[in-house]
Amino acid sequence: MARYVFVTGGVVSSLGKGLSSASLAALLQSRGFKVRVRKLDPYLNVDPGTMNPFQHGEVFVTDDGAETDLDIGHYERFTGISGTKSDNITTGGIYSDIIKKERKGDYLGGTVQVVPHVTDRIKKFLSQDIKNEDFVICEIGGTVGDIESLPFLEAIRQFSNDIGKNNSLFIHLTLVPYLKASGELKTKPTQHSVKELRSLGIQPDIIICRSEKKIPKDERKKISLFCNVPIDNVIETVDVKTIYEAPISFHKEKLDDRVITYFKIKNTKKPNLKKWKNITNKVLSSKRDVNIGIIGKYVNLKDAYKSLDEALIHGGISNNLKVNLTRIDSENLKVENVKMLLNGVSGVLIPGGFGKRGSEGKIAAIKYARLNNIPFFGICFGMQMAIIEAARNLLKIKNASTSEFGNNCTPVVGLLEEWHKGKTKIKGSTKNLGGTMRLGLYDAILKNNSLISKIYAMKKIKERHRHRYEVNIKYKDEFEKKGLIFSAMSPDGTLPEIIELKNHPWFIGVQFHPEFKSRPFTPHPLFSSFIKAAEDKRRGN
Ligand code: GLN
Repeated sequence: MARYVFVTGGVVSSLGKGLSSASLAALLQSRGFKVRVRKLDPYLNVDPGTMNPFQHGEVFVTDDGAETDLDIGHYERFTGISGTKSDNITTGGIYSDIIKKERKGDYLGGTVQVVPHVTDRIKKFLSQDIKNEDFVICEIGGTVGDIESLPFLEAIRQFSNDIGKNNSLFIHLTLVPYLKASGELKTKPTQHSVKELRSLGIQPDIIICRSEKKIPKDERKKISLFCNVPIDNVIETVDVKTIYEAPISFHKEKLDDRVITYFKIKNTKKPNLKKWKNITNKVLSSKRDVNIGIIGKYVNLKDAYKSLDEALIHGGISNNLKVNLTRIDSENLKVENVKMLLNGVSGVLIPGGFGKRGSEGKIAAIKYARLNNIPFFGICFGMQMAIIEAARNLLKIKNASTSEFGNNCTPVVGLLEEWHKGKTKIKGSTKNLGGTMRLGLYDAILKNNSLISKIYAMKKIKERHRHRYEVNIKYKDEFEKKGLIFSAMSPDGTLPEIIELKNHPWFIGVQFHPEFKSRPFTPHPLFSSFIKAAEDKRRGN
């Protein structure tokens, strides 16, 4: 039977529960165990797909088309295991299931309640779709003490009772702040947070203390005493220079040893952390660097393009380069200042996006990159903007745009239903906005002798999608006459998946999100190739 590890957070949010869970999973994996990592989110949205990055950070998309929390991305990158729909649940998802059942009459005659109906549904989520995993690590979103976390904490308490304490372990991650004025580390917030958790019937077995400074023995003793946890199970986590150092740092603190000891597992092999050490070295020690300009709307928000930032780092790893990201707010970018803002940048990347705001800035940057032979990488919205730029400036369709911005244009990008009238199964509807995009893995067939077929070194690819609008193939021949090649199409030949520009060192737009599939140990070929092209540009080749 799988052993369950529950990870809760206390004191403040953003302590790195996701990375801690992912690191523990990686450590257990490197000891030869089969792991699975899941996230329970207490908010009321059915999934994060309808939230903007300011609210939630990136929306991570799985192979099977679930729009999930960005922590699922960390889990994938750290374990190499692809997440699925059954790895992320929200209060909204749970309630919508229950309410659907209630309307059908499944609870006829009964009162539907948080306990047991909501808690039972959470417990069902915890155990569903588990095969032969040795460990299931479940991260509970939010902070202990939040009203909305209560049903989740109650459910994991019950679940632990059901499977027994020898099969379940609670880890609580807290903050131990350092007060400069008195020069002290403070354990009281941790004590209070654990008190709160214990009042809900959960006694943590391991406490991970996030702190700016090393936590001395005396403070650890205090936490151990007041929180009723053996001193060896009070573990500290200090800031690391790259997230790929986190598993090494947790291993030094014996997190995996403590978990193994707790479950009384004997004779396990020592973890082999060589690959993590290698990658950390590569990230930290590369001598040369390359500057990439990312042009988007959410440039001030660290988590908005999480997978993208990581994929670019992976591209750097495969070229032994440090990648510096210059984030440029597309709303500030104008035809007049594009040269100045892109000065010193060796590659331009336009990530996924929604809505008109900032789009003209993106189009100006694409034109500049196209005309000045700067490597350009357009992802999803970025590819759509590249098509609009080319339609306006190469095909001279002055009012070319996307129907996403309204109908007052020539839509070179639009909804399939606008020009296929029911002929295709893939729909992009605007009636209901939640979960109705083209989501998850789709095949694309690459054109022979194209740059893209060289990059992938294969003919058929599968990539993850998350978009409603498509490039209209009506203009394909005209674009190709001008050198803009549709170098990958959907298998039925109706949906442009990749575009590239002839006579340009590296100009590629993709309708999907390759960043979701890039992993530190297997960098995505598109990112490796883009970073190489940017490096060539920097060196003036
Ligand atoms: N807004 C565009 C669409 O819905 C692009 C989405 C994206 O970049 N993920 O098609």
